[in-house]
Order: sequence, then C-alpha cells, then structure tokens
Amino acid sequence: MIENGKVYLVGAGPGDPDLLTVKARKLLARADLILHDDLVPPRILALANPRAEIMNVGKRCGVAGATQAEIDSRMIAAARAGSSVVRLKGGDPAIFGRLAEEIDALDAAAVPWEVVPGITAGLAAAAALGASLTDRRKASRVVIVTNHHAGTKRPLVRDWQGLAREDATLVIYMPGNDFEALRDELLAAGLSADIPAALVSRAASAEQSVECSTLAELHALPRVPAPSILLVGWALDSAVRRALAANSAALLADAELAFASH
Ligand code: SAH
Repeated sequence: MIENGKVYLVGAGPGDPDLLTVKARKLLARADLILHDDLVPPRILALANPRAEIMNVGKRCGVAGATQAEIDSRMIAAARAGSSVVRLKGGDPAIFGRLAEEIDALDAAAVPWEVVPGITAGLAAAAALGASLTDRRKASRVVIVTNHHAGTKRPLVRDWQGLAREDATLVIYMPGNDFEALRDELLAAGLSADIPAALVSRAASAEQSVECSTLAELHALPRVPAPSILLVGWALDSAVRRALAANSAALLADAELAFASH
C-alpha cells in the first residue's frame, strides 16, 4: 500500500508506540527514507524498515544545519528518485508541525503527498489527566495555542485577548518556563485566579508526570522535563481535584509510613 515516489507526512503520536496509527506503523515498516523530528523516540524508530535510511532532521539535535529548505529538498529529491518517503513528526503533523510549508514545497515540485494524522500531545495530556477538554458543563471551546513566540515580534499579551475565556479550555503547546509572566497575561486577559491548570510532562511515556495548580499559583509549578504542555480551564476542574487529592493521600501515606518506622 506504500507508493514509490511519494511523501507521507505522518504523525507519530505523543511517544508511546502503541499510540501510533496502524497506517503509520505500516508506512514506517515499508518506507525507503524516514526523516524525523527530535520528538520521535527511538522506540518508534525501532519499528522502521531495517533497510530504510533514517535521518533526524529535528531543530534541536538533528543534522547540523538541517534548515526547512534542506528538509524540503531532501524529501523532493528522494521522491523524484522513486523512493517512498516518510516525513515523521511528533503528535499530529497539522499541529505546530510546519505541515503547510512542507505541502507547499511538495506541490511546487509536483511531488505527490499524503497526510497521515496522529494523536496530538494535547489529547495525550488530557488522557493523562483524565479530563474532558470539552466537558459540556464547563467548556464550549478548545483553544490550541503556543506560548512560544520566537521569530515573531508580537507581544504575547495581545495573543490572549479573545482566546482566554472562562468557557474555553486552553491547550498551550511549548509553554516555556516563565509561568509568572503567563499567569499575569492570562489574569490580565480576564481569567479568574482559581481556574484550574495542569502541566503534563512527557505525556504517553513511562516518564509521564502531571502537576496541578490554579492560575494564581501557576508560577509555583515545579520545573518538569521537556516536552511538556499546559492545560488551563474549568473543564479540568474535577480531574485536577482528583489529582490533587491523590497526591495529598500519597503524601499522607508517606508521612504515616515514616512515622510508623520511627
Ligand atoms: N505536532 C506536535 C506538536 C509539536 S510542537 C503534536 O501534535 O503534538 C512541540 C510541543 O508539543 C512541545 O514543546 C510540547 O509542548 C508538546 N509535546 C509534544 N509531545 C509531548 C508529550 N509527549 N508530552 C507533553 N507535551 C508534548
């Protein structure tokens, strides 16, 4: 089912190989060339065709200087030479994944392509927390947004106007580290201080962790390993309460254990 001379823009999901789509798995097993991002873990790459050429073209630790133009020309050259190419991206390729730019480049080169969706990090984070992003009792919209503004000159605070609403769940990709500034911006945009928030690190991996807070206490969230994603909204209310209760029960059990062993 894999075609030669074609580029498949494939979502690898949030990290757990069991969360790959069957189609992504089949394509990986048959591709001639796999160009992947940093977010794709070795456990997923291990499923690749053993004869495939595998290249990390990620921005962080990939091939030195693999610019977007170089990624595009490599995909195009390989497809024109008759290879089946998998361009593998973390999560879903259509969410903060430069999908549109790559499709434009492929179209300009008249190279056929197909998009294969994946489970995006925001949905894996909601699953980790056990929250419904659209709990109809609390939210009527989901806002997929990034707090990362490298390369743009836009002041972030302007970004939140109209987005940060009490009836919206914010799913904040690349949330950065400056949660104090983010808290102030969200408060300034009109959100209440006691709105729940959850920071999910390495969702859908063995190292997954969930830290819960309120908007007022956002700055006090611990630093967690990347990648992490921040959820904010009333829809998280019962899930965050459940997580905080489980956490304090665990702390209490630890304290009782320590007391008993004295
Ligand atoms: N296309 C990807 C997102 C790429 S942007 C997707 O659909 O998921 C990269 C950002 O995604 C990271 O900075 C982080 O905010 C988020 N992210 C990706 N994988 C993650 C994971 N397993 N756990 C938590 N956040 C993740």
